[in-house]
Amino acid sequence: MSMNSLPELDRDHLIHPVTSFRGHEAAGVRVLRSANGARITDTEGHELVDGFAGLWCVNTGYGQESIVEAATEQLRRLPYATGYFGLGSEPAIRLAASLAERTPGDLDHIYFTLGGSDAVDSALRFIRYFQQARGMPGKDQVISIEKGYHGSSTVGAGLTGLPAFHEGFGVPLDWQHKIPSPYPYRNPVGEDPQAIIDASTRALSDKIAELGAERVAAFFVEPIQGSGGVIVPPKGWLKAMAETCRAHDVLFVADEVITAFGRTGPLFASADEDVIPDLMTVAKGLTSGYVPMGAVFMREHVYATIADGAGSHTVGHGHTYSAHPVSAAVGLEVLRLYEDGLLENGRRMGTRLLDGLQGLAAHPLVGEVRGKGMLAAIELVTDKAARTPLPAAAEPGQRLFDRAWEEGVLLRAFPSGVLGFAPPLCCTEAEIDRIVEITARVLDRTLEDPDIRQAM
Ligand code: PMP
Repeated sequence: MSMNSLPELDRDHLIHPVTSFRGHEAAGVRVLRSANGARITDTEGHELVDGFAGLWCVNTGYGQESIVEAATEQLRRLPYATGYFGLGSEPAIRLAASLAERTPGDLDHIYFTLGGSDAVDSALRFIRYFQQARGMPGKDQVISIEKGYHGSSTVGAGLTGLPAFHEGFGVPLDWQHKIPSPYPYRNPVGEDPQAIIDASTRALSDKIAELGAERVAAFFVEPIQGSGGVIVPPKGWLKAMAETCRAHDVLFVADEVITAFGRTGPLFASADEDVIPDLMTVAKGLTSGYVPMGAVFMREHVYATIADGAGSHTVGHGHTYSAHPVSAAVGLEVLRLYEDGLLENGRRMGTRLLDGLQGLAAHPLVGEVRGKGMLAAIELVTDKAARTPLPAAAEPGQRLFDRAWEEGVLLRAFPSGVLGFAPPLCCTEAEIDRIVEITARVLDRTLEDPDIRQAM
């Protein structure tokens, strides 16, 4: 065993996701040691409330013994089963059936992946199969939204609408197109819900017309844009976008990697918006982050078209760990916990969180408080009237995160100066209140930052 400390070993060997490699070497790692409920503890003994459920995934909270038992039992009985050669495992089949029972409409066929990026990738490939099976191989263009996030696979990163995921990778590809974000706080049409809905549906129809409807395969959308800064479109927006797609024979794909499994209140945000997507991608809350798993759901007509089109031929798409039995066993238990009070608690705590954060709206740095369920954000500005974003010189992404960490809460701090909140659904009232109190302190400390003062 190496005599070097964990931070040294980390610096020398472990590559971190979405990180400045050199910046991380200089800053060093914070090592998490243990967690329980909504509390996490690092190796220095610093205890925090996890206000971001890890990476918006540990929806059940940590230390749920029944999940540990479900995983352990499955590890003992059958730790692996391939889905190739017509084989399968009981938890995978039961999880697929349980999910199908709960998804909106006839979104009943499920392909399991390892996470969100490969769920998006799989959806893209199934969409190609679908259009080819219909005899429309030229219907291969895909539209998504600026500020959207659909993972960082080689192809999927092109659907993502955040430039940091494009630079140097040759994406977006020539079949990947974007329309503007509905972003109510910064929409050129203003904040009127109907004006935003009209602008977005028009942008989508115009883009489809420009490309030719006979060439447009699918439209990908998050019900709430997560990584783009928790951007919450008005009620009715998702349905209007789905109807626009339907009118032009374009598949509507809801990327619910963040929004599913109680994050916005119900099991699926699409259902809440009265939308049945043609395909839906999920991950994160599916297994509450305890083990990796994602999934693509498809409606009956999508599945049947692919199945009939392929006939006796192989649909050439697959992963060694698709429908992994341990992940599936965890997924079944996580689903049981959601329905055994966690969704309900999450809804109550979500209201408390948003009310608490709204209470900070008068702070000089708070431009907007927004959210839905246990998903919320505060957008910081240096001038409320002009909605001026925090200056890059104040390093909002790093400094806001560090202040929150020091004060005792894990929050997401986007470089755009947006603080993101996505606590576990198991949070107590005291934990929610602590998140809000600490946020107030973070805002006050930020107000004292010389780089912020200079910009005000
Ligand atoms: N889609 C959305 C909407 C996401 O938020 C994410 C991850 N944050 C992904 C896809 C990619 O998921 P993963 O990181 O599990 O690959």
